[in-house]
Amino acid sequence: MSEALAAASETKELLVAPGASAAVVDVFRRQFPGRKAIVVCDPTTHRVAGESVDQRLRTAGLAEPAAYLLSDPDLYAEFRFVEQLESILRQTPAIAVAVGSGTINDLVKLASHRVDRPYLCVSTAASMDGYTAFGASITHRGAKQTFNCPAPRAVIADLEILRHAPPEMTASGYADLQAKITAGADWLIAHSLGVEPIEQRAWAIVQGGLRDALENPEGARRGEIKAIGALVEGLMLGGFAMQGTKSSRPASGAEHQFSHLWDMEHHTHHGLAPSHGFKVGLATLAITSLYEEMLKIPFERLDIDRCVSSWPDRATLESDIRRRFAATDFLDTALQETTAKHVSPDELREQLGRLVRCWPVLSKQLRAQLVPLSELRRRLKTVGAPTQAAELGLTAERLRQTFHRAYFIRRRFTVLDLAIRTQSLDRCLDSLFGPGGAWAS
Ligand SMILES: [Zn+2]
Repeated sequence: MSEALAAASETKELLVAPGASAAVVDVFRRQFPGRKAIVVCDPTTHRVAGESVDQRLRTAGLAEPAAYLLSDPDLYAEFRFVEQLESILRQTPAIAVAVGSGTINDLVKLASHRVDRPYLCVSTAASMDGYTAFGASITHRGAKQTFNCPAPRAVIADLEILRHAPPEMTASGYADLQAKITAGADWLIAHSLGVEPIEQRAWAIVQGGLRDALENPEGARRGEIKAIGALVEGLMLGGFAMQGTKSSRPASGAEHQFSHLWDMEHHTHHGLAPSHGFKVGLATLAITSLYEEMLKIPFERLDIDRCVSSWPDRATLESDIRRRFAATDFLDTALQETTAKHVSPDELREQLGRLVRCWPVLSKQLRAQLVPLSELRRRLKTVGAPTQAAELGLTAERLRQTFHRAYFIRRRFTVLDLAIRTQSLDRCLDSLFGPGGAWAS
């Protein structure tokens, strides 16, 4: 953890322990000497932690002005709440202390950046890895966007508070952590094909302790201190690796593209957008199932000529994208992102030649990296996260389309790119969605 903190460019201090929030005054004084604090929370986080954090800062003469309560019942990570918070921060030189989970952290992160100030985060749930991530995920004019802004200067994770968070929030965080398995597999592919080299330090930070951190979904479900501690540390580490590389690559692959696509399609279930972790958790299962099919294919005998001859040129690709995304509000994103990773026939031949040569080694590395679908499913069920598409309001057909559509929305090279370049995606999906397949309806 200390190595990871050293790699992090923005976060200087992380405290993970039972009762850690009692140290808020010390942490604040160390990180912001001579400054005053303004606690930001919502009614729920005020009750579980904000009130006592504010009280401690107040007793030490540091809390000024009074805590700011985001009390709108429809509070979510939307830009108008950033503006609201920003106008409050402009009235005071105080440093914001965000007490909450994803939404509050992202709102405070961006609002603080817009007034050019660092901030402190007291987390209230082990629900996602965004606490220590560079950037805030905010809905702006109806579309979810990642705004560039620094991670918090310090994070406090009081395990006594986290263990009492709603179980579905912990389950969501567990699923987000488990996604690092397929994210790592995608990076192995990109590395082997010469597309994006693995940065050893970031890899070690995320993958080093990942298996141990995921070991105890039963304990996480029950709110056991040790399991929650391992979970939250794993999530924070993902953020530190992303700070170090200034990219989400170390912690995000095709499974996150599924989740982003559903966000961009404004997908809701029973009127609500499912949590980030729940979407990513199901997508991790989907991507793992694709990997399991792909690993059955002997790519060392790939017919490269056939793949190159049917590779679309830019004009064909563009009209395909225009057709697929005509009815969406992110056609331009799809065009931009896909064009950015499109290669010429010669470049494709080069990449596939590498694949043929490295497949005996790469396929072994992938088998070692991946966890069997059945085991991933068991863990998600145990921790209380969805394992079936229908639980997120998705039909089998919609899930199948997602494999195709997710490819177009991000330039990141993943197993989807490998499947498309080798013309194996449809073949794999036929068996996954056909009789006896992992997603047979
Ligand atoms: Zn995530």
